[in-house]
Amino acid sequence: MQIKYQPKNGWEVIKKGEKDEVFAFCEHYMAFLDEGKTERKAAAEAVRLAKLNGFSPIENMKSLKKGDKIYAENKEKGVLLAIIGSDTTKGANIVAAHIDSPRIDFKQNPLYEDLDMTFFKTHYYGGIKKYQWTTIPLAIHGVIVKADGTKIEVTIGEHDSDPIFCITDLLPHLAEEQMKKTMKDAITGEGLNILASSIPNDDEKEKFKGALLELLNKKYGITEEDFISAELEAVPAHKARDLGFDSSMIAAYGQDDRVCAYTALKAILDVNNPKKTAVCMLADKEEVGSMGNTGMQSRFFEDTIAHILSLENKNYNDLLIRKTFKNSACLSADVGAAMDPNFKDVSETQNAPKINYGVMLTKYTGSRGKSGSNDASAEFVGKIRKVFNDEGIVWQIGELGKVDLGGGGTVAQFIANLNIETVDCGVPLLSMHSPLEISGKFDVYMAYKAYKVFLENNK
Ligand code: MN
Ligand code: MN
Repeated sequence: MQIKYQPKNGWEVIKKGEKDEVFAFCEHYMAFLDEGKTERKAAAEAVRLAKLNGFSPIENMKSLKKGDKIYAENKEKGVLLAIIGSDTTKGANIVAAHIDSPRIDFKQNPLYEDLDMTFFKTHYYGGIKKYQWTTIPLAIHGVIVKADGTKIEVTIGEHDSDPIFCITDLLPHLAEEQMKKTMKDAITGEGLNILASSIPNDDEKEKFKGALLELLNKKYGITEEDFISAELEAVPAHKARDLGFDSSMIAAYGQDDRVCAYTALKAILDVNNPKKTAVCMLADKEEVGSMGNTGMQSRFFEDTIAHILSLENKNYNDLLIRKTFKNSACLSADVGAAMDPNFKDVSETQNAPKINYGVMLTKYTGSRGKSGSNDASAEFVGKIRKVFNDEGIVWQIGELGKVDLGGGGTVAQFIANLNIETVDCGVPLLSMHSPLEISGKFDVYMAYKAYKVFLENNK
């Protein structure tokens, strides 16, 4: 018996031959990151992979029985996948992740010209350090709903032949005053304006703005008023890349939380005929509090489980969903803050997660005395710990920073509110919420394995 708790570096305990699997798995993960840079694109990619793996839209089903695979879409921004077990009311195994990431959203009336250039005004989405988003190549993704109701999709900046966009910053030569400001204030929210064009037309006034609107009208058939019913999101234009001489890490935008979204998705795609109903929930809006009808706090999750139960049971009633939730278990799949040697003093080394130490099991999140935390029970953490240990999962614990230094939350509390046993379990990242987040490939693969054994668990 091992008496001392001794977490280990995954590369030191990895099984023979598994390294190739880790690297191969991460190739697919990185392709998913490149395809799914926004919540809409990630949801579309999840649906594409679901269909490819034999999942059918729930609307097409007249009844459900063991082994059936279904998916439900939520307004193109969220997806729930399920494989039906022998009786869903006996409890489902749920892995829930989010597919939205911090980014720069266009304002409703975004376009203006200044000094013979045009810019888009923006309002950032989620918790960002604003200075990190200047002077990096940006791509624009989103939808525009035109006056006649037609919807057009916009993707520009991803291909090498596309132009990119950018938020400018001040040259150091003239930054004497700027450099005295705090990092919080040196770049302001209203200063995050995206440079868009610089050729005029022959309008009398606003000829640079006029020229760009002409160009956009030609390319997309839109007018300036159409921006009002648009969702345009600027995200880093770079692709996911291997990091380090040994390519052991991944540097990419949007790994919070598409690293858990992809590993959860892949886990359910690879689960074979589980005894308990297996569910993968991919939600939107986590970065702004899980609000709204596409966030985890919306009724979509409950409604879809109710839909499943009504297709399994001819006599559906409200008690069945309550019974289902009471008997269910959930891994809230979200990222954590890996200890960074450059910023060691914010972490409490005995409880903080480390890169490559495996998937992270986090009993509580929150801030200032666990506020806003789910705080999983000892019994449930014990159960998951046993499942992971029995199945050879390399895992670690992962508190988010030192007490009272800050904090954060996940979707865990909203799922737990439904009376579902829930614990946070995900991948530790370096530089979280930056345009270039870093994960360890071993941890990514271990998250996939952990979610898979959890979804297959029958105890
Ligand atoms: Mn997250
Ligand atoms: Mn986040």
